[in-house]
Amino acid sequence: MAETAHQIWVAETGCIGCGMCARVCPCGAMSVVDKQAVIDYERCISCGMCATKCPKHVIHDTLGIFAAAE
Ligand code: SF4
Ligand code: SF4
Repeated sequence: MAETAHQIWVAETGCIGCGMCARVCPCGAMSVVDKQAVIDYERCISCGMCATKCPKHVIHDTLGIFAAAE
């Protein structure tokens, strides 16, 4: 998949593995492995849903437009 303008990533620290991001992802791209959210970039469409729902605000995007306010 080509890199998009809204590339999403999860911070290496701070994730509590709650799974909220995986539940709201419309593409099945997010999963939690050993209490760390992991994105399957083959499926991710960079919609930003996970970033807006993460209670710990550890999901970020390149442009900084999706992360929920603290
Ligand atoms: S919603 Fe946030 S804290 Fe919860 S598993 Fe996903 S990245 Fe981690
Ligand atoms: S940006 Fe959208 S498609 Fe990508 S992991 Fe998050 S919720 Fe899923």
